[in-house]
Amino acid sequence: MAGNFIRVACSDCENEQTIFEKASSSVACAVCGTTLATPTGGKAAIEGETVETVEAR
Ligand SMILES: [Zn+2]
Repeated sequence: MAGNFIRVACSDCENEQTIFEKASSSVACAVCGTTLATPTGGKAAIEGETVETVEAR
């Protein structure tokens, strides 16, 4: 199954975290707990700023 990982910067604390772009559950910032991604059934809705896309290998 294809899917990329993306690096997302938290809008509250600027922590950068790598998450799966098709996350099937909510992803919270490890530092402050802000929601970074919400599952939609396809690609997750990204709440923060996408820094870069990391190609799946
Ligand atoms: Zn944060």
